[in-house]
Amino acid sequence: MSREIFDICIVGSGPAGLSAAVNAHVRRKKILLFSGESGLSKVNLSPRVDNYLGFPAINGNDLYQKFKEHVEEFKIPLVPQKVQTIGPMDSLFMLQARDTVYESKAVIIATGVAAQKLIRGEDAFVGRGISYCATCDGPLYQGKVVTVLDYTGEGAEESHFLADFCSKVYYVNMTKKSPAFKKTNIEVITGDPPEEITGGDTVSTLKTKSRTVDTDGVFIFRETYPPGELVPGMEIEGGSVKVNRKMETNIRGLYAAGDCAGKPYQVAKSVGEGQTAALNAVAYIDALELADT
Ligand SMILES: Cc1cc2nc3c(=O)[nH]c(=O)nc-3n(C[C@H](O)[C@H](O)[C@H](O)COP(=O)(O)OP(=O)(O)OC[C@H]3O[C@@H](n4cnc5c(N)ncnc54)[C@H](O)[C@@H]3O)c2cc1C
Repeated sequence: MSREIFDICIVGSGPAGLSAAVNAHVRRKKILLFSGESGLSKVNLSPRVDNYLGFPAINGNDLYQKFKEHVEEFKIPLVPQKVQTIGPMDSLFMLQARDTVYESKAVIIATGVAAQKLIRGEDAFVGRGISYCATCDGPLYQGKVVTVLDYTGEGAEESHFLADFCSKVYYVNMTKKSPAFKKTNIEVITGDPPEEITGGDTVSTLKTKSRTVDTDGVFIFRETYPPGELVPGMEIEGGSVKVNRKMETNIRGLYAAGDCAGKPYQVAKSVGEGQTAALNAVAYIDALELADT
């Protein structure tokens, strides 16, 4: 079977990602859009948007539906999954989503910003017991105790997976759902939010509001990862992806747009940056192809 290589993979389907998709499609590039698990955007939460040109006093959800319809009209392929890691490999990028690896010449990150604040200690232990991807890091915890903090619902399935080889899985449910678990080594913690992660060289405990559990690792499932976790080596400045006016990151062929690329967190800025990123990604790919001929 021949390898399928995309021109541009777009990670995130908020205003920035959708705008990037429309513009890359108009320029006839082979694109793939990842929407995350919910397929929703921050703008869905806004009861009334007053500052998006041409649509005064529009409900955020209605505005988002208009954006989505535009993309659907162009039949842009959409994968309703979260990208877990993006690895630059020679002149291509490898994107892992669930169990599939996608290859792309350029990537646009449009993942927005996390609604929840980081948990105390989270930053300090990333890569030393904190992980955002069970498929990638789960096997490191064979026979150990892990804790899953689930804000999106995807942590339930990941807990099942981890329970196959970890001695114990604490499942901290921060969603409105009530998943059922048959495996006896999964303990559910409900209505008890996580407050702090502590440890020495690596993670050793998670403190919730009312108890402390000993744990070797903590897997966190939010709508959005801290951007630096998605792409190893990508420069971050003040918590946002560092970009120039072309929306280029420090990695060739990798672009960022929208809230993840910094303030102001606004729809119009996200749409504009999505377009800028897409057009520059198109120019980058065209230059690559010219160099190959
Ligand atoms: C309550 C509220 C009111 C607001 N009101 C206004 C307003 O009036 N005017 C205004 O201009 N702005 C407003 N905003 C801000 C506006 O919604 C954001 O600036 C805008 O949505 C940012 O767009 P974005 O595409 O960068 O990110 P988002 O809209 O956050 O979209 C990010 C997308 O990326 C997906 N994603 C994240 N991680 C991954 C991954 N690893 N793999 C695949 N997909 C992923 C998410 O699921 C989501 O679909 C408001 C925001 C809120 C919360």
